[in-house]
Amino acid sequence: MTRVLVVEDDPQLVRALVINMQARRYGVDAAPDGATALRLAAARQPDVVILDLGLPDMDGVDVLRALRGWSRVPVLVLSARRSSGEKVAALDAGADDYITKPFSMDELLARLRAAVRRTEDITPSAGTTRVVTADFTIDLLAKKVVRGGTDVRLTPTEWQLLEILVIHPGRLVTQKHLLQEVWGVSQRNKTNYLRVYMAQLRRKLESDPSHPRYLITEPGMGYRFEG
Ligand code: CA
Repeated sequence: MTRVLVVEDDPQLVRALVINMQARRYGVDAAPDGATALRLAAARQPDVVILDLGLPDMDGVDVLRALRGWSRVPVLVLSARRSSGEKVAALDAGADDYITKPFSMDELLARLRAAVRRTEDITPSAGTTRVVTADFTIDLLAKKVVRGGTDVRLTPTEWQLLEILVIHPGRLVTQKHLLQEVWGVSQRNKTNYLRVYMAQLRRKLESDPSHPRYLITEPGMGYRFEG
């Protein structure tokens, strides 16, 4: 059984979440504040955490940072706030995905399933060296991409970008994270580097680069590889 920890201070929302998840045979614990959340996360070892950012005792991002000190459990962040800055802060602190309130229960459950599935995908495939899509194959060990039977020539920078996205399939990787990993900088004005290199990667890998199927932009936030 998949165990979910719901960290949310709105009792009505908690009730709706618990009912819906129990109906789908999830085991659910609920914490109304950050301190309880951290205690329950340690005691119950959930498989996935749903974390509201607006909590009465501490900021959800601080809960996430504390949790990431010792746990890699997938965290799905709930945010009522509109600013993408807060979501980016949560993603940079180690959130796996976010969902903006108000949300439909179906959407939340779909994101939850995806978060759990990704951990299942990653665990047995930790030694995975090949990523195969309908259009190209990536050999992570040989650092090679083959498309239509031909090697695709990538620059070292293009390769680094692609590799980071591909080893986190389905996961939104923030601009800041990519800039730090590839260029060692996090200045916002460097996001044009990312746009340029992502455009090059799409030209080399996507059959329709203006409507990418694999290298997806999340506007203002980052990029996602859909395998
Ligand atoms: Ca709240």
